[in-house]
Amino acid sequence: MEFDVDLFVIGGGSGGVRAARIAAGHGARVMLAEEFRMGGTCVIRGCVPKKLYVLAGRFARDFREARGFGWQVGETSHDWNALVSAKEAEITRLEGLYAKGQASAGVTVVKSRAVLEGPHEVRIVNENRVVHARNILLATGGRPNLDHGLPGIEHVVTSDEVFDLKEFPRRILIAGGGYIALEFAGIFRDLGAEVAVIYRGEKPLRGFDVDLRDGLIDAYSKAGIRFLFKDTFIRIEKTAEGLIGHTRAGEKLAADQILFAIGRAPNVEGLGLEKAGVALGKDGAIAVDSASRTNLSHIFAVGDVTNRVNLTPVAIREGHAVADSLFGGPKGIQPWQVDHSNIPTAVFTTPELGTVGLTEADARAAFPVVDLYKTSFRAMKATLSGADDRVMMKLLVNPETDRILGCHILGEGAAEMIQLVGIAVKMGATKRDFDSTMALHPSAAEELVTMRTRTARFERAS
Ligand code: FAD
Ligand code: NDP
Repeated sequence: MEFDVDLFVIGGGSGGVRAARIAAGHGARVMLAEEFRMGGTCVIRGCVPKKLYVLAGRFARDFREARGFGWQVGETSHDWNALVSAKEAEITRLEGLYAKGQASAGVTVVKSRAVLEGPHEVRIVNENRVVHARNILLATGGRPNLDHGLPGIEHVVTSDEVFDLKEFPRRILIAGGGYIALEFAGIFRDLGAEVAVIYRGEKPLRGFDVDLRDGLIDAYSKAGIRFLFKDTFIRIEKTAEGLIGHTRAGEKLAADQILFAIGRAPNVEGLGLEKAGVALGKDGAIAVDSASRTNLSHIFAVGDVTNRVNLTPVAIREGHAVADSLFGGPKGIQPWQVDHSNIPTAVFTTPELGTVGLTEADARAAFPVVDLYKTSFRAMKATLSGADDRVMMKLLVNPETDRILGCHILGEGAAEMIQLVGIAVKMGATKRDFDSTMALHPSAAEELVTMRTRTARFERAS
């Protein structure tokens, strides 16, 4: 069969653009289709705008706390629409850079939805033509879940809309207890809204270390965020005064906006997977092996559509690995696969959460003996600002090998710290390595290398 391209990439997000650029750099003929905006979720309505909004909110704290350092801060106010416009300008700039990066690498970008029409056939919907591709990469990402059966669900917003609300919501209700729910709870609280989080479980951020979860609940509660645990909405009502969220426990919560952040689903609807014969896993994501290969040897999938670890750097690396493995041979590049272990991650709440490796619960389940080193202290800035911000750090150690099994940080700078701790953990650092590293004073991070006294030893009952 004659092929028009060596690689057709569906989706111009984190995974897709990286794969396309690298493949073209290796000399492959590459075409990429994006139906919305180049850069994908992360750039347009995810990581980037989210972090900008987090930073916007933190100024409110700075203004408050500056007084303790001798500053006289006059009246301050926040202009939501100015923030939305500034954000839009920045993501538009980034979108342009992505498009330029593709063009200069030699990738042909088509602004259209693309769907599979057969095992090697991709239909470019806007142009109504079919391209024959030797290899295909599915990098279509995910989309927010919604509880479609809930009466009044049409009145809520998701993370796709929340960045561009026409008016700042003075009162916002947030459903969910994951990354997005908690990040936006912090953003809106810091920008001055009244915030309540409604979560179906006992404690949000399932899967994170328990001390991080407890520490965040405590800090958020002190900041005035209301939590409703073990509860869900049963009906959303629209009235002249705004929205009312009716909860299972019988509460009627008034709000200007209700944000649903109850997870994301792989973007596979209408993609034509059945026409090509691509199989899904049991969670509705595209099933792939460790080389990101689907059940068909020439069709690959990376990023959120595979629902492995739904983070931008992971999608990027998966895309890079596919491109290198398929087309890097002539340059002497051996096929390689992404190692999904010990991925550092942060939740951009204020205080931040940073984590790498095993949680305390997982470490104790995996190893017969686990040592815990834990510290909690008042952040230096708080001594003069009068805030009661604390920092919590914990290291989990396997005493048999002295290896660090996990590190968890709650507090200012946790994301920056955990990225660097991640290098050490990935290298197999031991507690002795941490102890022999000279402290850097005065910093919060120095506590990581000065925790001499074990807090606890957990032995599994045999
Ligand atoms: P995406 O980036 O979603 O890209 C998929 C692209 O495919 C989209 O542009 C879509 O329009 C396009 N597409 C879909 N179907 C088709 C089709 N049929 N034809 C053409 N185009 C199509 N991760 C982090 O690491 N750090 C963070 O701080 C962070 N914050 C986040 C905040 C929010 C609010 C959200 C929602 C996510 C956040 N994430 C974060 C997760 C991160 O955005 C994703 O893991 C990442 O974007 C996944 O990349 P991807 O390439 O798989 O998909
Ligand atoms: P998460 O998977 O993090 O959290 C989903 C939350 O919704 C959980 O608390 C879950 O509860 C709850 N939930 C699920 N289904 C329902 C339901 N039917 N009714 C009520 N609650 C429900 O998803 P997010 O949407 O917050 O974010 C999606 C992903 O995007 C994240 O997992 C992460 O991979 C990525 N992301 C990363 C960020 C970062 O790196 N800082 C920031 C934002 C997103 P339960 O725990 O009980 O299942």
